Amino acid sequence: MKEKNAFNVSIVFDNNCVNEGFLSGFGFSALVFNNFSNNYLLFDTGGNGEVLIHNIKKLGVNPSQIKKVIISHNHYDHAGGLSGFYAQNPNIELFIPYNIKNYEQNFPEAKVYLYKDVKEIDESIFVSGIIGISISEQALFCKTNEEKFVILVGCTHPGLENFIMKAREMGEVEAVIGGFHGFRKLSYLEGIDFIGACHCTSYMSEIRMRFPDHFRKVCVGDTFSF
Ligand SMILES: [Zn+2]
Ligand SMILES: [Zn+2]
Repeated sequence: MKEKNAFNVSIVFDNNCVNEGFLSGFGFSALVFNNFSNNYLLFDTGGNGEVLIHNIKKLGVNPSQIKKVIISHNHYDHAGGLSGFYAQNPNIELFIPYNIKNYEQNFPEAKVYLYKDVKEIDESIFVSGIIGISISEQALFCKTNEEKFVILVGCTHPGLENFIMKAREMGEVEAVIGGFHGFRKLSYLEGIDFIGACHCTSYMSEIRMRFPDHFRKVCVGDTFSF
């Protein structure tokens, strides 16, 4: 087993909880540092590029160090910060769930990728592929040294259980971080060590009460290592 952590996951956008010196806004975004590849990946962009960039810089990271950006779905609170981010850092690879927003036209200097099924986009980091029909969405699956998965999710409109089941086809789930929306099928969270519900999670207190040892409050500016 390698001694180093596989990933550092920093929360760079959320509407619930913010550490001092960081800014809040409606939406979600997480910055992943991949110790296998030494790359930064940005999962979602929150609703405001200025807030996003402030928070990234506050962590000591220059936006130009981030070469891969993954958008979970096309709602403004996840994709709205992208234009501001792109204005400062256009040479990115952009992983999108579907193309109704004309990403190629709007972000001409970016390389745009769309994967319908699971695809490794950086060493040990996978997009889930498209989940859901009415609002399609993708998650990010990060495979740790123990071959367990850390799942980053946007709003999980198609139901968090579908993202968990998709990851469980590949291995055990260690952590899930992001917006759980109206998710109530709490038994799917059994066995998950780190439950970082934030952003749009409706049943936050129910989740915390049922999994008091595993529920984790995640705030903008926090970094978690896996
Ligand atoms: Zn959302
Ligand atoms: Zn949404």
